[in-house]
Amino acid sequence: MNHSDSERLASVLKKIGYKKTNKEDEAGLIAVIACSVRQSAVDRIHGKLRKWQIIKEKKPLITILSGCVLEEDRKKLAHKFDLFIDIKNLTNLASDINKINPEEKLAFLPSFFEIKPNYESKYRAYVPIMTGCNKFCTYCAVPYTRGREVSRSSPEILLEIKELLKKGYKEIVLLGQNINSYGLDQEKEIKFPELLQKIDKLNNKNWWLKFLTSHPYDLSDDLIKVMKNGKHISKYLHLPVQSGSDTMLKKMNRHYTIKNYKKIINKVKKEIKNIAISTDIIVGFCGETKKQFKDTEKLMKDLKYNLAYLSQYSERSGTIAHKLHKDDISHKIKKERWNILNNIVKKNSLNFNKKLLNKKYEVLIDVINKKNEKYNNIGKLDNYITIHMTTNKPLKKGTFYKVKIMEAKPWGLKGMLI
Ligand code: SAH
Ligand code: SF4
Repeated sequence: MNHSDSERLASVLKKIGYKKTNKEDEAGLIAVIACSVRQSAVDRIHGKLRKWQIIKEKKPLITILSGCVLEEDRKKLAHKFDLFIDIKNLTNLASDINKINPEEKLAFLPSFFEIKPNYESKYRAYVPIMTGCNKFCTYCAVPYTRGREVSRSSPEILLEIKELLKKGYKEIVLLGQNINSYGLDQEKEIKFPELLQKIDKLNNKNWWLKFLTSHPYDLSDDLIKVMKNGKHISKYLHLPVQSGSDTMLKKMNRHYTIKNYKKIINKVKKEIKNIAISTDIIVGFCGETKKQFKDTEKLMKDLKYNLAYLSQYSERSGTIAHKLHKDDISHKIKKERWNILNNIVKKNSLNFNKKLLNKKYEVLIDVINKKNEKYNNIGKLDNYITIHMTTNKPLKKGTFYKVKIMEAKPWGLKGMLI
């Protein structure tokens, strides 16, 4: 979502007259898309501000803060920037910048201007289909920084994706914090499975369709059916579980038990052969006992996710957990628990990857590095697994190739073109 916000902001900056530079000390304007999910990202902004202050002493520089910012962080941070803007309200950007620096010659956007993102990639597009979240997991900042769920209209989404596919995009990633509840906030809107099905049918060329993130509570049988029958929908599901303990899940306000969660996973695995499933886990949430952590460890071993995003609990001000519970697990224990789970993920992922050996897959190339007269081409399978291929001539970025899997590692695969 942050990536997608950056693309939208970049697009507006370009339209009003700015050019992109990759060098921070060359820039006349720097905008930050903040992320409030964990404290570590907020801390990085403070570090950056010190660096930009040094640049500002030598030359003019406008700094802008936007994105996902908690009220308390806004109080601490906003005055250190020249401008604080709401990402949903970019149409006045040129006049806001002119208030700080009237010298800047900027184009003004007509007020009806519909901000289309400037997709950074020519083959992969992140398309937000809704914003906000109504779930209020007790640890999470998102409902406060992004507000309630608001779905975009389905004809608008379909049109945007149709145009992207016409331009030759190879991968479309639909975004929403709680994507399965798409349409529930609008009386006459279609629901997520129907939207996904309509997108899947937009054209017959070769392209991949993915979506993030599903909440286990709203994952319906209809969605599983659409995923199973879709022509373009990747065999990949990201389904955050957060903890293996029912007591913790209740304290987190997640609205499911491990028994329900496992039922969904088993159904998905049964219906969609070879599906790759990944998850999010938080270790060290308020009061997490050894036994409760062991339950998470056990779940990870049982379900054998091939990828998991592991976080150490980071208290966010204003959330329900911050008001009601104590962040009482030490940093040392959080780190130990994180390491234990990380080792399980590595093992599971190696086992999953080994099962792919000698099989043939399609790969979408992302990066090409030259090394000793050879090329190391790095891409992804449709289930997000990374694959490396060495060739004498470079492959083409953003293009599909057929490969045979030759070697399996915990971080990914090595393959050969066929
Ligand atoms: N809407 C998605 C993701 C939201 S944020 C979902 O519900 O799954 C991405 C992940 O960050 C979460 O899944 C959670 O694992 C993690 N996260 C959120 N708040 C956190 C916090 N306060 N401390 C540590 N991790 C957190
Ligand atoms: Fe945060 Fe929960 Fe909403 Fe995900 S579902 S964004 S974790 S409140």
